[in-house]
Amino acid sequence: MGAHISIPMYQRSIPQRYRLVGQRCLKCGRVNFPPKAVCKYCFTGSEFEEVALSGRGVVYSYTIIAGGGAPSEFSEQAHCQGSYPVVLVELEEGPRVIAQLVDPPEKGIYIGMPVKAVFRKIYEEEGVVRYGFKFRPLERVAQQ
Ligand code: ZN
Repeated sequence: MGAHISIPMYQRSIPQRYRLVGQRCLKCGRVNFPPKAVCKYCFTGSEFEEVALSGRGVVYSYTIIAGGGAPSEFSEQAHCQGSYPVVLVELEEGPRVIAQLVDPPEKGIYIGMPVKAVFRKIYEEEGVVRYGFKFRPLERVAQQ
């Protein structure tokens, strides 16, 4: 388990989608992401504290989405790029999240591969650019 940092007040105005914020259940201590009204682990906890997630995790599972079968949010991108990988990542803090993987390594994606969340433009619609997080192999993040 990594160190957890409390969120400074000045960051609270930043929209949640631009950062990774989970909620720690005060009853069972597990971290929910995305935030829930009731803890998805103990099913009874409804009081939480915010925790900033590091964005680091490991690939738990992955799949390759072929163009055409993509969720609408990704369809434009799939149209441009063809197929692309989507990974289920187990974050350091425990939650598992699904997102697209960018810059996959030449040697291929593997279970247990270290990754880090990065914020990227996901798609543009009627002039509005949507951002969200994607994962990038940690070794490639370190190269930047
Ligand atoms: Zn709980």
